[in-house]
Amino acid sequence: MQPDFNFNKNVNKELHHKKNCIIMLDSKMEDALNQQVNAELWSGYLYLSMSYDMDNKGYEGMASWFALQAKEEFEHATRFMKFIGEMDGRVTLMPVKEVRQEWLSVADAFEDTLKHEKVVTGRIHQLMGMAIELKDYATQSMLKWFIDEQVEEEDAARKILEKLKRIENSPGGLYALDKQLGKRANGED
Ligand code: MG
Repeated sequence: MQPDFNFNKNVNKELHHKKNCIIMLDSKMEDALNQQVNAELWSGYLYLSMSYDMDNKGYEGMASWFALQAKEEFEHATRFMKFIGEMDGRVTLMPVKEVRQEWLSVADAFEDTLKHEKVVTGRIHQLMGMAIELKDYATQSMLKWFIDEQVEEEDAARKILEKLKRIENSPGGLYALDKQLGKRANGED
C-alpha cells in the first residue's frame, strides 16, 4: 500500500502552525529573557571580581568559592541562552556593565552577595509573573529551576554570613572558614 503523503504533509503543516502559534516566544518575554542573560553575566563578573579581591586579601579558600560562584552564573546565562534558542528566539548579547572592584572585608563581600541574590530572586519572580500573564507554559517550566536555585543561593549566602558574624573577624575563625569554603566542590552551594 502506498503511504498517504498528503496526510503527512498536512500533519507537518499543522505542526509548523502549532510551533508558530503556541511555542513561539512573545517578543516581550524574549526581551526580558535577554535582559536576564545580561544580568547573569553581570553576576558572573561580580563574583569573579570578589574572587580576585579575596585572593588579594589572602583568602584563597574564599577566592575559590567565589570563582565557583562565578562559574555557576555563567552557566545560568548559558541556560537562558539555550532556552531562547530552543524557543526559536533571538539571543541578543548586550554590554556587561562594570562591577565593584574592592570590598572592605570578607563580611562586606558576603553581605553584598546576599543583597545581590535577593535582587536576582526578585528578577526571576518578575519573569515568572510575565510568563504566567502571557500563558507561556514552556518559559514557566524553565523558570521553575531558577526559582528553586534562588532559594539555595540565598540560603548559602545567609549561612556563611551567620558564620562570619559568629566569629566576628577573629583571625583564627576567618582562617578556619577560609579553609572550609575552599573545599566547596563544583556543583555545590
Ligand atoms: Mg544566577
